[in-house]
Amino acid sequence: SAAPLGSSVIPIVNKLQDIFAQLGSHSTIELPQVAVVGSQSSGKSSVLESLVGRDFLPRGSDICTRRPLVLQLLQTKRKPDGSEEEYGEFLHLPGKRFSDFSEIRREIQAETDREAGGNKGVSDKQIRLKIFSPNVLDITLVDLPGITKVPVGDQPSDIEARIRTMIMSYIKQPSCLILAVTPANSDLANSDALQIAGNADPDGYRTIGVITKLDIMDRGTDARNLLLGKVIPLRLGYIGVVNRSQEDILLNQSIKDALVAEEKFFRSRPVYNGLADRCGVPQLAKKLNQILVQHIKAILPGLKSRISSALVSVAKEHASYGEITESKAGQGALLLNILSKYCEAFSSMVEGKNGEMSTH
Ligand code: GDP
Ligand code: MG
Repeated sequence: SAAPLGSSVIPIVNKLQDIFAQLGSHSTIELPQVAVVGSQSSGKSSVLESLVGRDFLPRGSDICTRRPLVLQLLQTKRKPDGSEEEYGEFLHLPGKRFSDFSEIRREIQAETDREAGGNKGVSDKQIRLKIFSPNVLDITLVDLPGITKVPVGDQPSDIEARIRTMIMSYIKQPSCLILAVTPANSDLANSDALQIAGNADPDGYRTIGVITKLDIMDRGTDARNLLLGKVIPLRLGYIGVVNRSQEDILLNQSIKDALVAEEKFFRSRPVYNGLADRCGVPQLAKKLNQILVQHIKAILPGLKSRISSALVSVAKEHASYGEITESKAGQGALLLNILSKYCEAFSSMVEGKNGEMSTH
């Protein structure tokens, strides 16, 4: 699979999880959510799909994403024979495994229609999808409907305000990373994405600018100054990408071929020389990886103190059982000691003196 997101974070997270497993506790590394925002058809779903490396999201020139899609990636163990199994499961269809990713897309579309109707309606009710794969890290991505201005189909007259409120409810959370998606063939100063991201994250600590559609800019123009942050500066900077066009979608171009075409696009255009670290989906994945690693570094001291205090309480409990002894008699006494402590704790719990079972 071409999934580049997580490639450099997975080993770190796995190591930390091994440590926690040895301590008998569950994973405590919560990675930030990543949400895409922008105007309709700016390429949000396309960007998410490329990051995951699988084809499964509804994309197109019309309004496609009409409900928030909360996409939880969950890492599974590779099978002993080395083969990998990737599948999806929807919250609304518990127990049903989707191994065919185009079926996942059809189910997203069907479930969108069930809640939001067949005529362009939008709903803030989430679709929740889990993707299980050995190639992903445990992270949650959120695909959101795009900002539109003019109501169409069954949309209410206040559609723009409703969609903005919906988007804000996700990106105002301080742990949410924002991919602010703006097409290169529109004016950055009019970017809905940068505007709404700026409301949620005024200092720009968690907003990455993504410029799509570099391939269809007006002839004679290029995105060099945009990518350099000379038009609108952004603390975390910009990445320019080329996703599949509507024609590519109709021709069923694969993600792999799209990434090859993107690479060729940048390589063959001298204006993007020297901007290699700001060009292409793999660079976007790299940037996200770097931010995730920084996040993990930031939470490490907290994890360490949690491990230390867990160690202290385990040592205390251990000491309360008395000396470890090798002799049969000693072991019997130890067992009795433990049992009587449990009985005491149990009876006091039953009598309601003490709400919790304790061995101290
Ligand atoms: P969303 O509404 O923001 O989720 O946008 P989609 O990902 O559904 O894409 C909208 C349309 O734009 C689709 O027809 C895509 O094929 C097309 N598109 C997206 N990104 C690019 C790009 O970089 N270049 C070109 N040529 N088309 C793109
Ligand atoms: Mg979309």
